[in-house]
Amino acid sequence: MSLVRLLYVSHLAKGIGPNELAGILMVSRKKNKDIGVSGALCYSAKGFLQCLEGPAPAVNELYRRIARDDRHVDVTLLDYADIQTRDFGDWSMAYVREDEIDKSVLKKIRGAESFDPFDLASGEAMDLLKALVKERKEFLTRQQAESER
Ligand code: FAD
Repeated sequence: MSLVRLLYVSHLAKGIGPNELAGILMVSRKKNKDIGVSGALCYSAKGFLQCLEGPAPAVNELYRRIARDDRHVDVTLLDYADIQTRDFGDWSMAYVREDEIDKSVLKKIRGAESFDPFDLASGEAMDLLKALVKERKEFLTRQQAESER
């Protein structure tokens, strides 16, 4: 079955902050695994940036569900494309928070220490998401290695 990648941004709904993220992530990771969807979610104070990748029917149905979720607003599609391989195949939903990101990494990629998901073109958004997930994975690996020493 052919694979697609969908990329969107949204603004946080009023009253939604880091505390609501654990619930979103827990449900996402379980459900995405069941339907063969992988991806990454970036949370910043300015909004969400999310990539979903997987079989077209599963990604399409999931996007409809997510777009209806009242924990965010202004859901805006940045890109929808056929893909040969997944960028986040290891993750049912990789997750990065802007306030946990090494600022030097952001500065290197964006030229600034913070970013607004709505300022990004689709290529920039995808490059940023991949770089942030890679940085986060390396950080967690280092942290685990240190705790095992
Ligand atoms: P729903 O009827 O939508 O809800 C089931 C459970 O979800 C509820 O019991 C509750 O725990 C929680 N929930 C739903 N809405 C609210 C709310 N307004 N306030 C508090 N809790 C609520 N889902 C995925 O499966 N995969 C994803 O990758 C994914 N990414 C998301 C990204 C963002 C930015 C947001 C805001 C949501 C995302 N979701 C994702 C959640 C998705 O919108 C659905 O809530 C979820 O998939 C469950 O759908 P459902 O129709 O089975 O049940």
